[in-house]
Amino acid sequence: MVPADTRIDIERFWATIERSAEIGPGRPGGLSRLALSDADKQMRDEFASWCRDGGLSLRIDGIGNIFARRAGTDNGLPPVVIGSHLDTQINGGRFDGIAGVLAGLEICRSLDAIGHRTRRPIEVVNWTNEEGGRFSPPMVGSGCFVGAYPLDWARGRMDDDGKSIGEELARIGYRGEMEPTPHAFDAYFEFHIEQGPHLDREGMQVGVVTGGYPSTGMLVEFRGETAHTGPWPMERRKNALVAGARLLVAVDDLGWQYAGSGGKATAARLVAWPNKPGILSDWAQAVCDVRHPDGETAAVMAERMRRAIGESAARAGCTAEILDSWNWGGDIFAADLVDEIRANSLAFGYRTKDIHSQAGHDAYFVARHAPAAMIFAPCRNGITHNNLELCTRDDLEPGLNVLLQSVLARADR
Ligand SMILES: [Zn+2]
Repeated sequence: MVPADTRIDIERFWATIERSAEIGPGRPGGLSRLALSDADKQMRDEFASWCRDGGLSLRIDGIGNIFARRAGTDNGLPPVVIGSHLDTQINGGRFDGIAGVLAGLEICRSLDAIGHRTRRPIEVVNWTNEEGGRFSPPMVGSGCFVGAYPLDWARGRMDDDGKSIGEELARIGYRGEMEPTPHAFDAYFEFHIEQGPHLDREGMQVGVVTGGYPSTGMLVEFRGETAHTGPWPMERRKNALVAGARLLVAVDDLGWQYAGSGGKATAARLVAWPNKPGILSDWAQAVCDVRHPDGETAAVMAERMRRAIGESAARAGCTAEILDSWNWGGDIFAADLVDEIRANSLAFGYRTKDIHSQAGHDAYFVARHAPAAMIFAPCRNGITHNNLELCTRDDLEPGLNVLLQSVLARADR
């Protein structure tokens, strides 16, 4: 039996965070480690070598998800899985996602240090392209794993330079042979920074995540006609850039209308072609999303966003098509895992709070496949997707200890 006060080694964990923070540097203090870039490859290589050094066996699936397994005493049983993502936004921080993957490694190292072999195997997973910062949609690796996205479709997603996920996986040596068909998980735990201000503001040490804000995102394409910006009559203009701009303003307005009850709406991205002075654009793509703590209200917001697409296109004389849409959130996490996390946190004496995630996470997809839960650590002022994202050892250690005990309880039963 492992003593209930067994803890992780925060200095050892911190050293892996610091090494990761050197790979793909962005603005000062931050990271710019886009999915399947050279920096992502370098980080994957580093992670894989740490795993091999720890005696973990590695497998890579067809969408580049990396699974590192620590054997149990009964390897016929499904593993307890810990995971998150090593890719970052273009102006990302050092902790978002990364802390969750390296947490899994630290759990294995902590068990090695006390010479404990769990009954069930433990797996650490790095999911491909969680951020969606280079390839849309986000959370492609975990979505593919659970069958939400077909493998061929996912591999065909392209970045702004016309490079596909499949080509880039092959280029960096991470296009595995294994079909991303889901092998059974006993349970899935994801440790993540909160990415919001609540835990930090309230002096809480551990966030017990009970679910996520129901969210709907869309990739919308507008088609119009190029023409001269001078002589062409207003009533004949089909400016796709304007259609996209109208949509994004409408979506932002939606966010303000629901802000009082906790709603959010995001105008995330607009690209257009030719997007030059002197000519009207005949093509535009926009990415937008809505989210709300209440599921029914979130659905109303999504419907209003959908209506805004048609209205924006019509006002600009264009046509619109929703190329892709994604949904996640709700009270999807497993009650017994959530209870386990809360009980372990309270047993350590940590200031503990139940919380909803407002961001998307791989755990949302995994929850379709296996019992899943998340543990949040506070981050300074909630700043994230920003090079100033900041956590200290003290911010991270409580959640990691709770993760260790929760994984042990699950893996040894
Ligand atoms: Zn993340």
